[in-house]
Parts: sequence; C-alpha cells; structure tokens
Amino acid sequence: MQVYVEKPKCTGCSHCHDVCPVSVFEMKNRKGNDVNTDVAPADVQWKGVSDQAVVAKWSGKEDGHRHFADENDGTTGGISVAVNGASCILCQACLVQCEGECIVITDDAGNVYHSIYE
Ligand code: SF4
Ligand code: SF4
Repeated sequence: MQVYVEKPKCTGCSHCHDVCPVSVFEMKNRKGNDVNTDVAPADVQWKGVSDQAVVAKWSGKEDGHRHFADENDGTTGGISVAVNGASCILCQACLVQCEGECIVITDDAGNVYHSIYE
C-alpha cells in the first residue's frame, strides 16, 4: 500500500491523523525540512503555497480547526505527511474525513483511491 497527501490542498484539519487506526499520518510543520517525506509526486509536494480553491472553501470556516496554520498545536494545524503508508489497511476512514480531499492511496493491485469529503 502506498499513501500520500497532496500537500497544497491540506487544510491541517488533522482528521486523517486522528482517525487512522495504524498511525499512517503525522502532522508536520509546514516550514519544516520533513514536510515532503511521503511518496507524493513532485507536482503535489509542499512548496509553500496552498491551493486557492481549498483556501477559499475552508479558511473562513468556524469549525474549531486552525486551517492553514504553520504548526500543529496538538489539535489542528500544520500539514499532514503519510509517514507510514505501508501499514495502511484500507479501512477508508481517512478517505471520507479529509477536508482538502487530498489523500491518495494505491493498493498492491494498483487500484487508486482518492479522498472525498462527506
Ligand atoms: S485507509 Fe489507510 S491511511 Fe486511511 S485511515 Fe485507514 S488505514 Fe489509515
Ligand atoms: S484530513 Fe486531509 S486536509 Fe485534513 S490534515 Fe489530513 S490530509 Fe490534510
């Protein structure tokens, strides 16, 4: 199993980190050196600029999440990195809770799953 986060779309909501039963995700500092350490292709790695459509959708939402904050404070903020994709059991919990619809999972047969926020 391979898992990555399309970083420009990550709001920092931390839902993926909170629901994953096998600790695939860690919330990292957006300005840290380890922000691009999952298998995300170059075009969706973090280069310091968020996807403007996602910013427009989520930046004003008053849902208790610190959207697009640089660092995680133990609840929200920062950016998600799939540090342990090999452990994914495809429970799909993260796929329906990802605000940015930016999680991509590829199973061992090559099937690709994209997150869709519900
Ligand atoms: S689908 Fe995989 S990465 Fe997502 S929550 Fe389940 S085990 Fe974790
Ligand atoms: S659920 Fe999606 S938007 Fe929220 S922190 Fe995880 S990858 Fe980012």
